[in-house]
Amino acid sequence: MFLEDVGTLFIIDENSCLTGVVSRKDLLRAAIGKQDLNALPVHIIMTRMPNVTVCRREDSLIDVAKHLINKQIDGLPVVKDTDKGLEVIGRVTKTTITKVFVELITENHI
Ligand code: ADP
Repeated sequence: MFLEDVGTLFIIDENSCLTGVVSRKDLLRAAIGKQDLNALPVHIIMTRMPNVTVCRREDSLIDVAKHLINKQIDGLPVVKDTDKGLEVIGRVTKTTITKVFVELITENHI
C-alpha cells in the first residue's frame, strides 16, 4: 500500500484472477487485534470472492460511482471474464471518478 500509494490492494491467484480485497481498515482491524501481523496470511483478513464488487471495462462511470456510494467502498477492480475466473485488468477509485468530474467541469466551463 505504501509503496504503490494505494488505499486498497486486490489479491489475485497465480492466474491473475481475483480472490479478494484488502483495505486500510482491514489492516487496521488486524493491527488492533492480538495476532502477529508478520505471521498473518492476507486471506484471513481480506474480503473474499464472491463478495468483492467488481466492474467491467464497458460499464459506465455513473454505475461505478453508484456502486462506490451504495457499498461505501473506495474502489473497484476492473475485471475480464476468463475460463479461470475474473482476471484483474485495472482499478477505478473515488479519486478516478473525482478526476473525471473535474475534467468534465473544466472542459464545459460549468
Ligand atoms: P477503507 O478501509 O480505507 O475505508 P474501503 O471503504 O474501500 O477502504 O473498505 C471498507 C471495507 O470494504 C473493507 O473491509 C474492504 O475489504 C471492503 N472492500 C473494499 N473494496 C471492496 C470491493 N470492491 N468489494 C467488496 N468489498 C470491498
